[in-house]
Amino acid sequence: MHFSRFPRLHWAHLPTALEPMDRLSETLEGPRIWIKRDDCTGMSTGGNKTRKLEFLMAEAKAQGADLVMTQGATQSNHARQTAAFAARLGMKCHILLEDRTGSKDPNYNGNGNVFLDFLHGATAEKRPGGLDMNAEMETVAERFRTQGRKVYTIPGGGSNPTGALGYANAAMELVQQANAIDLKIDRIVHATGSAGTQAGLIVGLKAINANIPLLGIGVRAPKPKQEENVFNLAVATAEKLGCPGIVKREDVVANTDYVGEGYGIPTPACLKAIEMFARLEAILLDPVYSGKGAAGLIDLVKSGAFSSDENIVFLHTGGAAALFGYTDAFGYDGPVDRAAE
Ligand SMILES: *Cc1c(COP(=O)(O)O)cnc(C)c1O
Repeated sequence: MHFSRFPRLHWAHLPTALEPMDRLSETLEGPRIWIKRDDCTGMSTGGNKTRKLEFLMAEAKAQGADLVMTQGATQSNHARQTAAFAARLGMKCHILLEDRTGSKDPNYNGNGNVFLDFLHGATAEKRPGGLDMNAEMETVAERFRTQGRKVYTIPGGGSNPTGALGYANAAMELVQQANAIDLKIDRIVHATGSAGTQAGLIVGLKAINANIPLLGIGVRAPKPKQEENVFNLAVATAEKLGCPGIVKREDVVANTDYVGEGYGIPTPACLKAIEMFARLEAILLDPVYSGKGAAGLIDLVKSGAFSSDENIVFLHTGGAAALFGYTDAFGYDGPVDRAAE
């Protein structure tokens, strides 16, 4: 894989750390669980979109764009990181935010990622849930183009073959790190949504013949749809990288049993997982993606899906900024004094 053939902004803090989570592993009495810290990629509190945006925003710059547009849910981490990249490039950023949850909570609608979008100088407009958001975005982009702007549009989650290059590269990075410390990785687990992370990882792992199974924990779509989205994007990404045909349908595995009521609605197991990671490992997960991914991982460990001599790598995709849009879900309100037990 020769990534230098593509324009790229080397802004991510790489390689991200690969660390054991010993207190969590001991508590769960299962396999040894490691964490790959893609929550610490460095752009505006970090997260997985940074690796994609290194390629996407370099392409925007190469095309001479002066306005970048993207879309996502109200608490989109991707929108926030796009706003951050645009700020650093001196580009305007306009975001379409879809109301997928119907929440009226002022923190959900104005704090967390929304606050950071505006802090980075982005503009935004809302849409009700259920529209074809990429089509909505193209309509608005056309309006800007007729006004003479050079617009670069990024699909939701930055998930197209250009963005997925970032995760093909991450696969190579992870395997190199594991080799350097004689770590045999038996499985990688992460939250999967718009599919770019999983698709890129699969392409990278296949291209270097790593033979490491990958499990995506879904946060929105049902299993057949999620796997189809990941597979189609992986096929296109492999073609872009110059290695067509390396991805097989059976390489794509998603478990969508942990979505709960829907996208962006935290489940009790998700909130519990966030508290476990915070209290055992001082790691901040998020209520939309990594918390559900971790809830899936924890449940699978408890149900004996992995043997105790295995090494599982949990890819932490970030998202902690969204915690401040979801403080109500944890029910910690009340007096500042919290009695010791
Ligand atoms: C976007 C996102 C994901 C999902 O990644 P996809 O590439 O969209 O599948 C996971 N975790 C966090 C925190 C995210 O922001």
